[in-house]
Amino acid sequence: MSEISADMSVRTAQAGGFYEVVRQLQDVDVQAACMAADGYRVRQALAKDTLSPEDFLALLSPAARPYMESMAHKARDVTVRQFGRTIQLFTPLYLSNWCTNRCVYCSFNACSGIDRMQLDAAGVLREGQAIAATGLRHLLLLTGEAPAKASVDYIRDCVRVLRPLFPSLSIEVYALTEPEYRTLAVAGVDGMTLFQETYNEALYPSLHPAGPKSNYHFRLGAPERACRAGMRNVNIGALLGLDQWQRDAFMTGMHALWLQHRYPGVDIAVSLPRMRPYAGSFQPVCDVDDRALVQILLAMRLFLPRCGITISTRERPAFRDNLIPLGVTRMSAGVSTAVGGHAENEHSSVGQFEISDPRSVDEVVEAVSRVGYQAVFKDWHPLEDSCAV
Ligand code: SF4
Repeated sequence: MSEISADMSVRTAQAGGFYEVVRQLQDVDVQAACMAADGYRVRQALAKDTLSPEDFLALLSPAARPYMESMAHKARDVTVRQFGRTIQLFTPLYLSNWCTNRCVYCSFNACSGIDRMQLDAAGVLREGQAIAATGLRHLLLLTGEAPAKASVDYIRDCVRVLRPLFPSLSIEVYALTEPEYRTLAVAGVDGMTLFQETYNEALYPSLHPAGPKSNYHFRLGAPERACRAGMRNVNIGALLGLDQWQRDAFMTGMHALWLQHRYPGVDIAVSLPRMRPYAGSFQPVCDVDDRALVQILLAMRLFLPRCGITISTRERPAFRDNLIPLGVTRMSAGVSTAVGGHAENEHSSVGQFEISDPRSVDEVVEAVSRVGYQAVFKDWHPLEDSCAV
């Protein structure tokens, strides 16, 4: 454990970007360091207000399993102090499922043979109106990576259609350049989500064998480019199960901490997606069971007290409800992962992956309230904006 110096955490890697941290940690067996933690080390971490990377690893270790009850109590208190008893709700809107990448775990990959669809302006408006009618005001726009189809100009045009309906628009598209992020920020996009999928550079090429996403470095640098381009919030994560979960969870936390230190004006958040069934046969190498996901959530909350944490509809309803008091701050609701899935169910395409929580927005609001929290539809409004909602 002592091999991992706190020095390599954030401050010394300013010049080389976050890859400098990844490179330094490549020489350290993070998995072994995590496995070497004992109960004494876990208790030490639990006693602190500000955790070091070594403390974070201890909380991700098998030795932390007997202490999860204590971790849960502390995580709940830390979250309530920072965020109150609130859960912000949002929903994704899939604009296009065209994709030139071959991510082996995704239904939209270029070789999957699914019907391809892309919404035109009228379709975008129909989807936006159907979502707005549920009361939601935070929207996440998604596309596959096919810039010849879903170009930055196309995404900007969709944003213009949706601006009057939604005060907060985020994107989860392909990795962009800084000027491209700035174009979208100027058009009214205030948030960006991008998952590294796995931080394991050696494993990454086999999971992304072709297409622009195979460029590990360009993807790794995207959240920082979005911060520089003026995004108000930046959400990162790994697709849990692609590699040993302790390692990817640890690297996700380190990445978030690094971004928080370097861009203190940006709201940095993490998502904790697990692999889900999709239109293909790839099986994840690592089983992330419910207990492991809870442990990651608790450790992440204690390591990053100010960080938003999102749990998606990949998780089943009862499990999601149980996670609410443990550190979650954002949840998706009323989700369809198909293009045209909100307004045009009968014509919509194959979804990106199967969801586990098909509840309506009203049902999720009720579930959030049942555990003593308040569902929030809107917590931000751009002052310079003409958005009337
Ligand atoms: S994960 Fe994204 S980039 Fe990869 S195949 Fe699916 S849609 Fe394309």
